[in-house]
Amino acid sequence: MPATYTHNFDTPAYKGSVTVNTGLFIGGKWVDPVQGGSVEVVNPATGKVIISVAAGTKEDVDIAVKTAAQAFKTSWGYKCAGAQRGKLINKLADLLERDIDEFAALEALNGGKVWSIAKAADLKGTIDTLRYYAGWADKVQGKTIEVKGKFAYTRHEPYGVVGQIIPWNFPMYMLGWKLGPALATGNTIVLKPSEITPLTALKICDLVNEAGFPPGVVNIVNGYGTTVGQAITEHPDIQKVAFTGSTLVGRKVLKAASESNLKVVTLELGGKSPTVIFDDANLEKTIKWAAFGIFYNMGQCCTAGSRIFVQEGIYDKFLEKFTAHATEFSQKTGDPFGTDVQHGPQVSQTQFDRVMGYIESAKKEGAKIHIGGERHGDEGFFIKPTVFTDCTTDMKITQEEIFGPVATIIKFKTEEDAIRMANDTTYGLACHIFTENVSRAIRVAHALEAGTAWVNTAQTTEVSVPFGGYKQSGIGRELGEYALDTYTQVKGVHIALDE
Ligand code: NAD
Repeated sequence: MPATYTHNFDTPAYKGSVTVNTGLFIGGKWVDPVQGGSVEVVNPATGKVIISVAAGTKEDVDIAVKTAAQAFKTSWGYKCAGAQRGKLINKLADLLERDIDEFAALEALNGGKVWSIAKAADLKGTIDTLRYYAGWADKVQGKTIEVKGKFAYTRHEPYGVVGQIIPWNFPMYMLGWKLGPALATGNTIVLKPSEITPLTALKICDLVNEAGFPPGVVNIVNGYGTTVGQAITEHPDIQKVAFTGSTLVGRKVLKAASESNLKVVTLELGGKSPTVIFDDANLEKTIKWAAFGIFYNMGQCCTAGSRIFVQEGIYDKFLEKFTAHATEFSQKTGDPFGTDVQHGPQVSQTQFDRVMGYIESAKKEGAKIHIGGERHGDEGFFIKPTVFTDCTTDMKITQEEIFGPVATIIKFKTEEDAIRMANDTTYGLACHIFTENVSRAIRVAHALEAGTAWVNTAQTTEVSVPFGGYKQSGIGRELGEYALDTYTQVKGVHIALDE
């Protein structure tokens, strides 16, 4: 039997104790991995190990897939009415809401997220997502199609067992984006959380049982990408895999899927999103949103507005005020459980080193540092909010995804220049546009090559609006009604009316 772990929190933001099971969750039960592997989970605010949890292998994925396939046949899919599936998903959302403080505490402990922000954004967003998809569960419908001599209609059928692989930057939120539409459409699930941040995924398993989901509908197999992740992408009995993570790994997922059983793949990948600020923008509001766009979640957002393009007429004023704003924000760096803290650590030593490597490369390439560019404190993985100017569009820091609190600011003259520079990237996840001119806002939103365009706002996803990438930022869409299509396959049924 896998062990449980209880963490006692006695912090300014949260006091209480939270217990998680450290095993694999298969068929509604906690089990040990077949090969007995484990992975250390680290607190990024201190750099110290919190606990070791189970890490599975291919054998565990095989067991989980068999269990999920059985559950699909006997108690989910068409064996469970949509209304009942919706009821269970809603119940899970209710339980999550009941335990929201505990989940926020685990997100802060394991992911370095500021506790109050994890609660207000990550957890609330997860709950909203589950409720939204609970509402769809009895509304997945086909069409009747007028055909001569036949009655023809379509059915949107679930795939059966779907594989889901998620990253560490939004452990709960990404889990909600995955569970919601897959369960609503009647699929059963084998999900792998990031080995870096598995604690909330483990914690929610107890709620899956408490909500009353039939055993085997949701299976969570923690472990490394090259073992559990790869086993999911190569598995012959998984017909669809949904992956969120880096473009590098996304390519591997696509390759493994094509070389195994040609499973359907949706990919939510990296980004290098532009923030384009025109002379006529409302400066005060723009500064707040542009800063939020890059510094939110310590810059660890796939949609981070890391390339800030500012029109020449407003450039000097923007730079002065943006730097002042970022300096003030920087003073709110600290322990994720502290009060008045808004900026925590990067998630891991690896990410810390990666981001610092980009900062060093930018200095070498001639970019000028305005603020930040160094670690905060002497323990954990904290990096101060960092602002670079004198950047060119061919520098490494303006081309590659940094995934840290590092903004590059570039001046532009005309709308055409801004569009050209903003589109000069292999990514196409999101863009931010700041202007008071509605015609320009619409023109530029249409011209930028990205799956999401935010005008006079930043990073504000909505559960009912589709989200996904152009270019090398992904394939397929999550959220909204569009996500339902990615979890169903359409069957055309023809019935002859003539004898
Ligand atoms: P990552 O690609 O390293 O890992 C993502 C997941 O894939 C993890 O669970 C990992 O264990 C697993 N994995 C690793 N190798 C694998 C393999 N060979 N086969 C199968 N699975 C494997 O990404 P990360 O560092 O966890 O997350 C950061 C990245 O995620 C960034 O690039 C970010 O932009 C992206 N992201 C995208 C979105 C989006 O919606 N577009 C959202 C969040 C994060």
